[in-house]
Amino acid sequence: MPLRFECPHCETRLSAGKEFFHTVSNCPDCGKEFMVPAPQDIKLPTDEVKFVCPGCRRKLSASPEQFGTEMPCPFTDCEEILMVPDAGYKPIDIPPKG
Ligand SMILES: [Zn+2]
Ligand SMILES: [Zn+2]
Repeated sequence: MPLRFECPHCETRLSAGKEFFHTVSNCPDCGKEFMVPAPQDIKLPTDEVKFVCPGCRRKLSASPEQFGTEMPCPFTDCEEILMVPDAGYKPIDIPPKG
């Protein structure tokens, strides 16, 4: 799964796959160059995202590892497959320079 981190220039939330770790990329938001971190370089965010199940309308929360993934609603009378929102992280998809 992609790593979540913040742009060191503008603090936009970004995500990058492991092929980008320790490469120089441009921020998709401010356009400045920075070194993409690797998981051992940063602490994972601990904030949870709250959202509403589209099937049963109950409030759910998900941890950062679940952002952008599918999971079944934890209520057994619902079990709707739902997509966990990604809390506004922008993917890095610009190829590294060099
Ligand atoms: Zn930026
Ligand atoms: Zn539900």
